[in-house]
Amino acid sequence: MKTEFDIIVIGGGASGLMAAGRASELGARVAVLEKKHKPGLKLGITGKGRCNICNDAPLEDSIDAFGRNGKFLYNCFGHFHTAETLALFESYGLKCKRERGGRYFPIDDSAHSVRDALMKFNRMHGTSIFLNHAVKRIHKSGNLFVCQTADATFSAPIAIISTGGLSYPGTGSEGDGYRFAKQFGHTVTPLKPGLAAVITEEPVSELEGLSLRQVAATLLVGERKINTLQGDALFTTSGLSGPIILTLSLQWARLATPPDAAISIDWKPALDFEKLAARLDRDILQNSKKSLNNNLRLLLPSRFIPIFLSRLDLPPEKAVAQLNRAERIRIVSLLKAFRFRIKSHEPIETAIVTEGGIRLSEIDPKTLASKRVPGLHFTGEILDLAGETGGFNLQMSWSTGYVAGEAAAKASALLRDAS
Ligand SMILES: Cc1cc2nc3c(=O)[nH]c(=O)nc-3n(C[C@H](O)[C@H](O)[C@H](O)COP(=O)(O)OP(=O)(O)OC[C@H]3O[C@@H](n4cnc5c(N)ncnc54)[C@H](O)[C@@H]3O)c2cc1C
Repeated sequence: MKTEFDIIVIGGGASGLMAAGRASELGARVAVLEKKHKPGLKLGITGKGRCNICNDAPLEDSIDAFGRNGKFLYNCFGHFHTAETLALFESYGLKCKRERGGRYFPIDDSAHSVRDALMKFNRMHGTSIFLNHAVKRIHKSGNLFVCQTADATFSAPIAIISTGGLSYPGTGSEGDGYRFAKQFGHTVTPLKPGLAAVITEEPVSELEGLSLRQVAATLLVGERKINTLQGDALFTTSGLSGPIILTLSLQWARLATPPDAAISIDWKPALDFEKLAARLDRDILQNSKKSLNNNLRLLLPSRFIPIFLSRLDLPPEKAVAQLNRAERIRIVSLLKAFRFRIKSHEPIETAIVTEGGIRLSEIDPKTLASKRVPGLHFTGEILDLAGETGGFNLQMSWSTGYVAGEAAAKASALLRDAS
């Protein structure tokens, strides 16, 4: 089978479906070639199945969420951002609600509803979606991109590569697009886990599952403070996870993962050192006969106390009344800054996003077109763009997808007019 279209989109995930829908809406004949039996498999597991679809943070904050590379997104976000995203989804039947931190979720808390709305967008404008069609090879023959799947060949003058990153490969994102990009002469920057749980030097397996509610975590490189975030965290079998830890781990990855990094936990961010010291003194006064072990239960989850005490190097049974001033200061200091040295990340397969990707200087930020190969575009996570948690990564996928789809459809119309 050989089929010709105006535009071929490789990958029917978040950004590919957005690109295809927009290009079809503008009248292009679009084919989406999707490897898996269903489109948007990763979309279906986003936000723990609820899909944090976007965030209404101001433009500058949305840009900052992508670190140094964020400025690439000014054009895309300037053209299609939160309001446009919510309006588009609503016009295809998906209402969203706003939650803490400006995060938006579908009103029925179902990521599948997001996928259904995207599919409706495509169906209504006539996109042809080919499932179980993994692109094995792509090459240029004359003015046409030729894509080969196991038993079919598709060609079009414009191709959009939307194959995602390397995380959760079971959803289809196995990095094929990086291979295609390199073959077309593009540079792929080093690929690393972004938003991945951190493995600590200190063993924490006995704390697995313990939540840290409203703590402050600071990323340190040597003694240099990189960033402090307040919120929830979680002990895993080999380290730390949870929203604030994932964001710090992304920042660590962006720093080229320096070896002498640590995460310092402030268990009582609402109290400064003096207030916490006064609170400890008050607790000690009221419970002078209690052991240190029992007294610490007023301040820390009981599962954490043995580790805390062993770091303090004080006997658990010591009566609190016998603590001298220096020991009390050590306790407060440790409550305000309990360090875990970062050993590494969990593997990329379990990360939320991929840090690294197609070098942005090789892409036109106004059209997502390759500066090397006419007619080739890239969207979504395959680009060297990894954002913080909060809906920013999907917003990047929607925005780059929409802008690329629109640019591709306009280029396709010009080609048609010229022929
Ligand atoms: C567990 C988890 C939760 C997340 N939650 C959120 C969240 O709540 N909010 C948020 O903003 N972000 C979230 N993300 C990140 C977000 O899902 C991704 O950034 C986004 O899906 C990237 O979109 P994409 O289109 O670039 O790639 P993908 O959505 O990964 O789509 C790529 C598609 O390309 C297909 N493909 C790959 N190779 C080929 C090939 N050779 N031929 C044909 N098809 C191919 C794949 O099968 C896949 O369908 C989450 C990620 C994970 C893993």
